[in-house]
Amino acid sequence: MDAASSSTICKSPAWLGILGGGQLGRMFIHEAQSLGFKVCVLDPDPLSPGGSVAEKHLCADYLDAAALSEMASLCSAISTEFENVPAQALDFFKTRGIFVAPDSSCVSIAQDRIKEKAFLAQCAPISGVGPVPYGVINSEADLALLANNLFPGILKTVRLGYDGKGQITVQSRDQLAAAWNDLGQVPCVLEKRMALAFEVSAIVARGHDGDVRSFPPAENIHRQGILHTSTVPSPSLQRHPVLLERIQKATSAIAQEMNYVGVLCVEYFVLTDGSIVANEVAPRPHNSGHYTMDACVTSQFQQQVRAMARLPLGDTRLLSPVAMLNILGDAWFVQDGKQQTTASEPAWERVLSHPDAKLHLYGKASPLPGRKMGHVNCLGQSLDEARQNCTAVAGDLGIAP
Ligand code: ADP
Ligand code: MG
Repeated sequence: MDAASSSTICKSPAWLGILGGGQLGRMFIHEAQSLGFKVCVLDPDPLSPGGSVAEKHLCADYLDAAALSEMASLCSAISTEFENVPAQALDFFKTRGIFVAPDSSCVSIAQDRIKEKAFLAQCAPISGVGPVPYGVINSEADLALLANNLFPGILKTVRLGYDGKGQITVQSRDQLAAAWNDLGQVPCVLEKRMALAFEVSAIVARGHDGDVRSFPPAENIHRQGILHTSTVPSPSLQRHPVLLERIQKATSAIAQEMNYVGVLCVEYFVLTDGSIVANEVAPRPHNSGHYTMDACVTSQFQQQVRAMARLPLGDTRLLSPVAMLNILGDAWFVQDGKQQTTASEPAWERVLSHPDAKLHLYGKASPLPGRKMGHVNCLGQSLDEARQNCTAVAGDLGIAP
């Protein structure tokens, strides 16, 4: 990208391009359209949630030459909704002088756990927060070289893991070879299993001019490796304002060190001894930032639009306490003994009858257990009220609170 193109603001009705048309792409598209932009989405799924709302859906592989060329001829700027987009696709646009945010160098860090941890370790002197202790497994010989203090640990594939997939807990060294086999003997990291007090994530937007805006960190609860709720302000960080400040500073430092442009999420573990470690980074809006859609002046998706269009970033002020509840495909099924059986539409009218509940559905055709179908932002006058509303909405949807 040359200096001239980097200073060019995209004005509506210009076209913006997004790689990936999942729910994150769809919510990005809605925000882009609300600022008057047109959006072209590239996603090989003909039924992608983003494809159905974009002005143009190129239904093709991410490396399809004709689709990339068509997108390049249309769009003034390009972003991605997922970290596994091939770097070549992002670089294709960059070499044609199209503004790409985030850059492929940032995305490639986030899509590879070895690069990601090495980067977090490299940043630690500046960010003040390092990665979880870990070892690298590229070949069978590496198994024996792992330090004893990594056990019990969690074996994770280096690439393509999400929602707890591609991970196996390994209690002791004698379980390691079998676990690595189960993961297909692909490159992995073994992370020490940490004693977590609580989990938080922090999202920042960074503009092309280096302006950084931080959203308030969310406190996250996972179920079976999938995000269940995000609560803001984080109840635990409210009790430890020093930790809150450290997390905000670390996240800005990580974005700056990457020379990042766009929306970046960093997941943190706060350990029972009060220390903080960085778990992973996402080079895009994050599920734990969906609360910003109803509880902040500017949503994370609008920040993504603004950053890629080189418009001024928005205010990240929290307008209300909020608890976000994820709705998985499980909510369509009735528990029958130990099995999930009969599929039926959840009781949306009950959710919609809550004055403080804002329902977002992603328009996915087939609900499957574990599949993210939507979320509800439960607002409240107080944090307690937001959490109570969240518990009530979960009850209405048959989701265990
Ligand atoms: P994903 O890419 O699927 O989000 P994560 O690495 O974030 O994978 O792991 C998912 C969840 O598993 C985390 O949010 C945390 O609850 C738990 N977890 C992951 N790594 C560790 C660890 N080293 N120690 C303790 N818990 C962990
Ligand atoms: Mg994670």
